[in-house]
Amino acid sequence: MRARAVVLLAAVLAAFAPAPAVRAAAPLVLVVDARDVTRSILHVALDVPIAGGPATLVFPKWVAGEHAPANPVADLALLVASVDGKTVAWTRDPYDPFSFTFAAPAGATTLHLTYAVLLESGHATDRLALLDWNPALLYPAGTVIATTTIEAALIVPPGWDFATALDGPKRTGDRIDFAPVSVERLIDSPVLTGANLARFPLGATAELDVASDSPVAPVVDKAVLAHFTALVPQAQALFGSHHWRSPYHFLITASDTISYTGLEHHESSWNGVDTDTLESEAACKKWAGDLLTHEFTHSWNGKYRRPAGLVRPDDQADETTELLWVYEGLTEYYSEILAVRSGFWTPAEYRAALAAKYAALDAKTGRATRSLADTTFDERLRLTAGPHATFASARRASEDYYDEGELIWLDADTLIRERTHGARSLDDFARAFYGIGSDTPPAVVPYTRGDLVAALNAVLPFDWEGFFHARIDVPAAHPPLDGITRGGYAFAFAAKAETPNPEPRAGGNATDYRYDLGASIGGTGNVNDVIAGSPAARAGLAPGMTIVALDGRRFSTAALTATIARDATAKAPLTLLVTNHQAFATLDLTYDGGIRVPVLMRGTGTDLIAAIVEPR
Ligand SMILES: [Zn+2]
Repeated sequence: MRARAVVLLAAVLAAFAPAPAVRAAAPLVLVVDARDVTRSILHVALDVPIAGGPATLVFPKWVAGEHAPANPVADLALLVASVDGKTVAWTRDPYDPFSFTFAAPAGATTLHLTYAVLLESGHATDRLALLDWNPALLYPAGTVIATTTIEAALIVPPGWDFATALDGPKRTGDRIDFAPVSVERLIDSPVLTGANLARFPLGATAELDVASDSPVAPVVDKAVLAHFTALVPQAQALFGSHHWRSPYHFLITASDTISYTGLEHHESSWNGVDTDTLESEAACKKWAGDLLTHEFTHSWNGKYRRPAGLVRPDDQADETTELLWVYEGLTEYYSEILAVRSGFWTPAEYRAALAAKYAALDAKTGRATRSLADTTFDERLRLTAGPHATFASARRASEDYYDEGELIWLDADTLIRERTHGARSLDDFARAFYGIGSDTPPAVVPYTRGDLVAALNAVLPFDWEGFFHARIDVPAAHPPLDGITRGGYAFAFAAKAETPNPEPRAGGNATDYRYDLGASIGGTGNVNDVIAGSPAARAGLAPGMTIVALDGRRFSTAALTATIARDATAKAPLTLLVTNHQAFATLDLTYDGGIRVPVLMRGTGTDLIAAIVEPR
């Protein structure tokens, strides 16, 4: 396995090697002035070595981890080019808005650029910023970013501190100069900066860097810190080795305005949480399994081992995303398991999360006509969906490769455990596939679906290709349930009042009526989604409508929840006054099933799910 992967990597790198004649010896020199970042603007200066004559530079197009050509070239503004102080004209490629040609004179050796980056993307507040380098960068067309050197500097607002995985930072006033690095490593190493930034060591190999929107120094609850500290050796035990240079940086923006977002990197991750998330164990639960442990798991699954279709010489060529059910699905599987193994979640919270995911996937009517493989296009499709990406999501079956990927890997794990009578598990595959070699600096080892099948066959000889074909390549009316039943549990709906639901994300979520009324309804009565064939659909409710009143009184989700619970015995229809574009209408919604919450009930057989989440 290891030899095969290393040979493949060497072949990939050889294919990408540039002809020696076009290799520029001098580094690119980049200075990003972030002193106006609180006013949502970066001022950038870039020196690019050129060979004389017209030069073509590109703005990085695809964003690693975002699975789409989503780097915001529209935010690049005020572009001025010069050679030896004389302005040089530029034009944009008529076929590629990410490509620019500069009319540099013959004999020119350095092209000097100045431009602004208009930050629209929610990476900064008045007290902190998470700065990615790729929205502030151009490089010569044809650059092999893994082998091209760049010297980067950042100027932060007065007195702001910073944290990053980049080497050798030298601070002079508010300017930080980093050691020369490859363009690839620079893009993979964002900088967290803020007025209130604190570092918390997590053992010898990782640290938590927290910039907070709070006016006082960031606070991390003792138990939360203990879970982060346990997470690092739990992941190391699972994968066998790691591929960052210590310390790994959990870069945290604690801000109510840019929360629940994140991006994985080799030696760090950006995790955007609420201002108070790290201040209590209860608040942190909401973010643990799907964000904090998720982005960390990506250091192995996605950054080190990477689907071959995502490995390219630069960020211009299109990615092929067909293995995202591994990249994201297996990450989702192990991140939730690691959330339990490191103490962020209880086993009951994990089971509740599984139940919620199964129910949500099963409610998606779009799944019957769309394979899971087709959903791996969704980040690209989302670029065309604008602010309505969550509108009618059940019919879209959006991004199912995350959560359905998780259920498929649970299916595989329980299968291995059952057939080997507990002697082997998916953890054996994880150690062999993701932990090959010893601890190393960042490296990329590509894999194909065939490599994956071969590695699983080494753990348990089985028709893994057939297993994946049935679950990935063809539409299925229902998500895979075998992992849950083989794991010793039965999926069911329970009344909320009878069964306390410990599902972390369900706490306080009054908008999810998919399993009773059959609709997802926001706090202002905005109808985001309606499940086909549900009581809400039969009443005539549709995505895009707004519920103004319920039973003759102004709408609120609290009143709706109370009415549904009461009507489980009263059996009265709900009268909804709704707006649809400019029209008002009254709809009668007949439903008497009470509140329904997805749960896992203990079934028969060995409790494999308990064994899976056992700390290592
Ligand atoms: Zn991810």
